[in-house]
Amino acid sequence: MKPFDIDVLNHVKVELFSLEGNFVIVPHINPDGDAVGSALGLARILKNWGKKATVVSPSGYAEFLKWMVGNEDVLVYPDNKKRSEAAIQSAEMLICIDFNHISRAGGLKKFVENFRGTSVLIDHHPHPEAFAQFVVSHPECSSTAELVYQFAKEIGLKEFVDTAAAEALFCGIMTDTGSFDYNVSDPQTFQTVSELLELGIDQDKIHSLVYDNYSADRMRLMGYCLSECMEVYPEYHAAVMYLSKEVQDRFNFVTGDSESFVNLPLSIKGIHFSTLFTEKGDHVKASFRSKGEFAVNEFARKNFSGGGHRNAAGGELFASFKEALDKYRSLLPEYQEELIRTKTN
Ligand code: 5GP
Ligand code: MN
Repeated sequence: MKPFDIDVLNHVKVELFSLEGNFVIVPHINPDGDAVGSALGLARILKNWGKKATVVSPSGYAEFLKWMVGNEDVLVYPDNKKRSEAAIQSAEMLICIDFNHISRAGGLKKFVENFRGTSVLIDHHPHPEAFAQFVVSHPECSSTAELVYQFAKEIGLKEFVDTAAAEALFCGIMTDTGSFDYNVSDPQTFQTVSELLELGIDQDKIHSLVYDNYSADRMRLMGYCLSECMEVYPEYHAAVMYLSKEVQDRFNFVTGDSESFVNLPLSIKGIHFSTLFTEKGDHVKASFRSKGEFAVNEFARKNFSGGGHRNAAGGELFASFKEALDKYRSLLPEYQEELIRTKTN
C-alpha cells in the first residue's frame, strides 16, 4: 500500500480527536462483506475509543454478514428512515466507506450531499469523486477493511482494535480477496491479517460463518444456473450467467443467494471474462469479473453505467433482461481483439 497522504491524515486525525463523537458511517448500497466489515470494524474501534458511532446502511444485506458485533445496531435506511435521518442530521462527522461515487449511497445520497459536518471518504476503488471533504483513497489496497486497519493504526488507535473489530475487518479482507485468491500481491495484506490473528480472531470460524451458511435453495439455484443459464464463448474467452426473475422466484431467492456466482465461470479453462446478469424490478444488475489485464471496470463504465476495480466491477441497465443479454452478446465481437490479447491461460 502507498503511504498515506500526511496532510489528509493529520486533518482527519485532528477532527476525530476534537469531536465528541456522534459519527455516522455509511457503506455502499447492497453492502458486501468488505463494506459491512469495514463499517462495523471502524464503528467498533471508535466505540472502544469512547466515541459514539452509528452505521447507517442504504439497504439491507445478506444473512451471512449478520454475525458481526454491532450488526443489531445498524440502521437500515429503508426500514428506519426517521432514525437514520435523525442520526445523520445530528452527526458531527460522516464517514463514507467502500464507495467513491455518490450514486452508491442509494437513498442516502441527498443526506450525504447536504451533510454540514465533516465528511470523510475511506475507499479503495479507482477514480474517486470528491464528494467528501477528506478523501482517503487507496485503489492499490486489497480492501477497504485493510485500509481502515492501517488508517486506525496510523492515527494511533491500534489499542482500540479488539477481537470483535478484528473479526469484522478480517471478514472484509477475506471476502474482497476471494479468500486470499486475488488482490493479495502486496505483502502488507498478509501482515495485516497476521496482526488481526494476533488479536485472537478465529479465521476458520469466520470463513465458515460466511461461506458455509447457505440455504439448500441457494445451492440448487447455483446448480441450475450453471446447467441452464450459462453461455460460454471460448472464442472470446468469455462466459455469461443470467438470473431471471422467474428463476429467482422458483428457488425462493433472497439477497446474497447469488453472491460469488459471477466467479464460477472463471474456473473454466480459457475463460478470463465473466458476467452475471440479475433481473431486478425495473432494471438489470450486471456483475463483471476478470483474470489478468482485461479491465472490467472500463467495460462496465462504457456499457453499463457502472465501474469498480480492474478485475471486479458492476453496473446496471434500465432495459429488459433480454435487451441486457443482447447488448452483452453484441459487445463481444467489439472486445474480441482485447480479450484475445489479454488471455491468461
Ligand atoms: P458486485 O459485482 O459484487 O456487485 O460488484 C463488484 C464491484 O463493482 C464492487 O466492489 C463495486 O466496486 C463495483 N460496482 C458494482 N455495482 C456497481 C455500480 O452499479 N456502479 C459502480 N460505479 N460500481 C459498481
Ligand atoms: Mn471493497
